[in-house]
Formats: sequence, C-alpha cells, structure tokens
Amino acid sequence: MPAVMRDGGRLVVLGGVAAGMSAASRARRMRPDIEIVVFEKGPDVSYGSCLLPYFISDLIPSRDDVVRYDADFFRRERQIDVRLNTEATAIDPRRRQVTYRAPDGGTGTLGYDALVIATGATAYKPPIPGIDVPGVFTLRTLNDGERLKDALMSGGIEDAVIVGAGYIGLEMADALAHREVNVTVIEMLPTVLSTYDPDMSALIERELLDQGVVLRKGTKVNGFEPADGRDSVGYVVAGGQRIRTDLALVSAGIRPASTLAREAGLELGLSGAIRVDARQITSESTILAAGDCCEAPHVVTGRPCWIPLGTTANKQGKIAGENAVGGSARFGGVAGTNATKIFDLEAAQTGLTQHTAELDGYRPASVTITSTSRARVYPGASPLHVKLVFQPETGRLLGGQLVGREGAATRIDSIATALHAKMTVHELADIDMSYAPPFSPVWDPVIMAASQAQKKVTG
Ligand SMILES: Cc1cc2nc3c(=O)[nH]c(=O)nc-3n(C[C@H](O)[C@H](O)[C@H](O)COP(=O)(O)OP(=O)(O)OC[C@H]3O[C@@H](n4cnc5c(N)ncnc54)[C@H](O)[C@@H]3O)c2cc1C
Repeated sequence: MPAVMRDGGRLVVLGGVAAGMSAASRARRMRPDIEIVVFEKGPDVSYGSCLLPYFISDLIPSRDDVVRYDADFFRRERQIDVRLNTEATAIDPRRRQVTYRAPDGGTGTLGYDALVIATGATAYKPPIPGIDVPGVFTLRTLNDGERLKDALMSGGIEDAVIVGAGYIGLEMADALAHREVNVTVIEMLPTVLSTYDPDMSALIERELLDQGVVLRKGTKVNGFEPADGRDSVGYVVAGGQRIRTDLALVSAGIRPASTLAREAGLELGLSGAIRVDARQITSESTILAAGDCCEAPHVVTGRPCWIPLGTTANKQGKIAGENAVGGSARFGGVAGTNATKIFDLEAAQTGLTQHTAELDGYRPASVTITSTSRARVYPGASPLHVKLVFQPETGRLLGGQLVGREGAATRIDSIATALHAKMTVHELADIDMSYAPPFSPVWDPVIMAASQAQKKVTG
C-alpha cells in the first residue's frame, strides 16, 4: 500500500499520454492540495494514438482533433505542472527521486512522495540493414504520424510497403490506399492479423486482396535500400526480390518502455512489462505503473499478461492516480477486447482464440457460424461471421471473434461482458438481446453461435 500522501505532498508522473494524464487528472480530482508534476519526453500530451491512421488518411484532417487537451489546458485548468520535452533518465526508489534531462539538455533531480510510471511502449525496429534510411517510418507517436503525413503531402508517393500485418499495419494499408497509394504488405507469418485464428483472419485477407493490396505472407524483409540517386528509400528487399517503393512503414510490433523501471530494480513480468498488483502498485510501494508499460491480469486465465491497448491505459491510469494519493481502487483485468476497421470490414475479438487457449493449456472447442448483420431480408444486410471458443467439458466461454461489414465491433462487447462474468455458452445463449430488423436477425448472431456451441458441450 503506498504511504498516504501527506498534505502538500508531490506526485510525479512519467509519461503524458493516455495512462499518464489519466493518472495525473484523477489524482488532482482526489487531492486539490498536492503538487503534481508530469515529465513527458515528447512535445505533446494527451493525444489519441488510435486516431493516427485516420489523421494520416486525412479523414480527420486536423492535428487539433488528435490532441484531446494540450499541456496548457492541464496547467491552467488542472494545476498540473506538465514539463514537455523532459525525459526521466533514472529513478532512485530509496531516495524517492527522479533524475531528468530538461529541454535545454541540462539535468536535474526531483523528489516525490509517490511516482506513477506511464512510459508506454516503443515501436520495435528490427535490426534490418537500411532501416534508418530516410523514408522508412515507424508509427507510435503524434510526431511519427505528422512526419508520415508530411511525407505523403509532399507528393511523389505512389507506392508504399508496409512491413507487418498486425492491426496497425492493416489500418495503415487502408489509410494509404485511401490516399491512392499502391500498397504492398509484407508479413513474416503465414497469416495476416495473427491475433485472430486463421479461419477468421482469412476473411480479412480476402478483403485486402479485393481492395487491391499486394500481400506477401511468410516473407521476411532483408533490407531497405535508397532509391537510385536519392538518399530516401527506393527498394525493400524481401523474399529474394527488390520491391520498388517510395515509402516504407515498419509496423513490426511494440515493446514495453520498462527500462527505467528495470534499472530502478522494479520487478518485471515475463513479458518484459512492469509487474503490478490490482491497485497498480509495483514491487516498490511508493511507485505505481499504468498503461502499455505494465502488465494486467487476464480475466480468463487469471494470469498476468501484456495486451497493450488504449482502453486499458486510460483505466489503469485512473486507478494508479487514485491509489498514488491514498485511494484503494482495483483494476478489474483485461480480456484484450479490441476492434479494427480494415477497408470495408470490421474485425473484433475478445478473450482467447483457439490458438492462444491451446497455448495457455486449455483443450478448447470452438464453433464458427455465419449469420447476417441485419434481418436477412432487410436492405443492407451483410454476412457476419462469429467464432466462439469455449471449454467443451463445462461450456465456459473463453473468447470470441467477429468479422463482417457491420455489427462486429458493437457485438464483441456482449462477449466481453460474458467473459468478465465468467459465463458459459449456455448462459450467453440465454441473454435477452435486442431485435429489430435494421439491426439484427431475430436470433442475434452471438446467440446463434452460443446455441451452436451448446451442442458441443459434453459435460
Ligand atoms: C496507430 C495506433 C493505433 C492504435 N489504435 C488503437 C485502438 O484503436 N484501440 C486501442 O485500444 N488502442 C489503440 N492503440 C494503442 C494505444 O494507443 C496505446 O495503448 C496507448 O497509447 C497507451 O497509452 P500509454 O499512456 O500507456 O502509453 P503511450 O501512448 O506510449 O505514452 C507514453 C508516453 O510516455 C513518454 N515517455 C516514455 N519514456 C519517458 C521518459 N523516460 N520520460 C518522460 N516521458 C517518457 C512517451 O514519450 C509517451 O508520450 C493504437 C496505437 C497506435 C500507435
């Protein structure tokens, strides 16, 4: 339990995006009397990274719409001392002190009564020759997004290669195609969107191909080379070929930004992210952590996991902020619920897939059904694919995936709710879900899948 924050004490927060500013804001609401300092190593706070693909496609043209509140707002309205371009370089838990590098390059130290680490994650840059050639981008921060958008706006970008077919890579394939750029996606694994089971990700793959994306699966990138006579990227070398390109985006995953914590002697989990308890407290009682830099308990397995998402970062940040100043809030865990739009398809998932359930030691069963997003005869109805994963002996629900033109992203939340409630497929099939022809068939697709699953329950 962190020491109760003394009157006029100081909370220091490292990192100023989703988790950091949620923590600082919650702490301020709880404790008007204390000093709150946020160190952010970049030039912006509180922006929506999730909006970046749409900012780059120009669907959301203005940078101001990506930044929720700027640093001045927090200083003026919430009396939070936000220090931009200021990087924390060390934490000394014994002295309760942070060392930082100020914008002018000078260093300083600042003591704290409680510390929240919200340093997020960084884009992984695989050690591929030429990865630092100009025109090879990663996408994590608003700054990254602006650089990428500037490159597109400057003209002359006809072809782009995206390395990595995770959800960010595929959202960016959509964004670049929206800007009439020819897109090639190169993926090392045999499937796209590999957090889904292959039968579901095959539907996404079909959509990519239908939209004209060139897909190279099971292919490793060996290098980036400058264009002839220019210093910016001109070729991506992959699978024994040189693929011409004007721009490359490496979207090969992220890593938790936990080095500071590790160097300070805090416990990390197997994932490399910071280990926390349900109150977001680390192995040091005066230090809390939240967001992409730390782990969370999984609601299905009960074990710590690292599933970095904005939803989790906001919630954990709020809890860390509350507990850093004397509260006792608890985080309810993650199911890894997420949704993405890839061209005209929605894909959504929660809990375990068949594959991850097997890796976690379950012997799962699954059903996949195809229903429709609206009543079959209602104009605009389109196929909706639902997969449920469950334990055949007990019927306990382990996870779900949906793919379709509409209705996938909203319906995943009913499955997530069922996971949090530890429901069986029998209980899911009994839920009183809504029906009207413009929104659903009379048997909602999720209920229909649960009914099919019931038939496979052996216990
Ligand atoms: C393109 C894109 C699309 C996404 N889409 C979705 C989506 O649709 N849904 C969803 O749930 N999630 C999505 N995410 C993930 C989501 O954005 C992250 O989970 C969320 O931003 C995590 O917030 P955070 O505050 O933990 O970390 P971050 O956003 O990484 O912020 C951490 C901050 O800490 C700062 N920092 C790091 N080290 C230091 C230091 N030593 N000193 C000072 N400051 C430091 C960094 O500069 C950074 O600004 C998306 C991410 C990206 C990049």
